[in-house]
Amino acid sequence: MKPQKPNTIDDYIEVFPETVQEKLRQLRETIQAAAPEATEKISYQMPTFYLNGNLVHFAAFKNHIGFYPTPSAIEQFKEALSVYQQGKGSVQFPINEALPLDLITEMVKARVFENQSKAEAKNHYPAKKNKNFEHQAATKEKLIILGTGNAAVTKCYNTCFAIQKNEEFFLVDTGGGNGILTQLEKAEISLDQIHEIFISHEHTDHLLGIIWLIRMISARMKSGSYQGNLNIYCHTELKKTIVIIVKLTIPDKFVKMIGDRILFHQVKDGKVREILGYPVTFFDIRSTKAKQFGFSLKLESGKKLVFLGDEPYREHEYDYAYQADWLLHEAFCRYADRDQFLPYEKDHTTVKEACEIAETLEVANLILYHTEDSNLAKRAVLYQQEGSGYYQGNLYVPDDLAVFDL
Ligand SMILES: [Zn+2]
Repeated sequence: MKPQKPNTIDDYIEVFPETVQEKLRQLRETIQAAAPEATEKISYQMPTFYLNGNLVHFAAFKNHIGFYPTPSAIEQFKEALSVYQQGKGSVQFPINEALPLDLITEMVKARVFENQSKAEAKNHYPAKKNKNFEHQAATKEKLIILGTGNAAVTKCYNTCFAIQKNEEFFLVDTGGGNGILTQLEKAEISLDQIHEIFISHEHTDHLLGIIWLIRMISARMKSGSYQGNLNIYCHTELKKTIVIIVKLTIPDKFVKMIGDRILFHQVKDGKVREILGYPVTFFDIRSTKAKQFGFSLKLESGKKLVFLGDEPYREHEYDYAYQADWLLHEAFCRYADRDQFLPYEKDHTTVKEACEIAETLEVANLILYHTEDSNLAKRAVLYQQEGSGYYQGNLYVPDDLAVFDL
């Protein structure tokens, strides 16, 4: 029996037709020969070679083999690669053409050299317990996907995520209940590291986890283990909803923390708030179902991360989403499965449309989530296959608890 989900490169390769398998093996051997010290693993659901960090990834699609040697190698080999379709960190080799093995060898060697140089530079300047040095050290910025499912899922958690900046986390939505505590624990995020939470809208699958967080964090405030305030960002009507549910469901001694150390901050269309030191511009997504906000956040590196809530992109969001480095977009199911899951009836969209949008908006990295959960084991591979026909950038279909370096 085939494994449910690839754990090794062998597992990954064996699900494809024989002709594709042959190409993938050839590619794998070429990489092995160019980087004999690299180890193999599956990362982002793709075959990955690792040496002083990720070296290269590859993946098979219907019409091409995607090769991901990072943006620096794409830049370095720009001329030789000009005959192929490219993304910021990726290149597509048509499935019906011979792989350019010499060029692949050169790119892999360049990546080995690059990672080695970085590792040596690190060893040369070992991290000292020196305040000044730490101050200059690069900011740790990560995206932790806590849940990837739509409202009605049972096999994964509802869509929510955290943006990490050094030791602090900005939580975006909280899923539908107590499961948020499980997801945070699995992600090794302590409640003491969460002081900023944004709730996009009132639907249960985004909202109800906040009740648990308020309960648990206010208990920690009372016991003295939680430092500082908890800031909750949402629109005014949503604040009322949250406070009502809190009052009806958790003990008074905890409710008292609201207004004292649990503070609500109103989000408004087009208004900027500073969260974890990031400028975060909130915008009304103009949902026809329930008032909902998205945001555009500027990372320390200057990169733009854009969250569109759980509904498809709308034209008025263009300025926020155009040329996003990271776009988080919902995709209810594959376009191929639309008759089965009826995404449009729920104001949701499919992989195809989300990818078309990202292509039009010139997005570098697209993350799809808020999906149905009938085939999680194959979700990433199937969605990638469909999406790659419409989008040239880096497409990710993460599982719950996936982590991205921003
Ligand atoms: Zn939702």
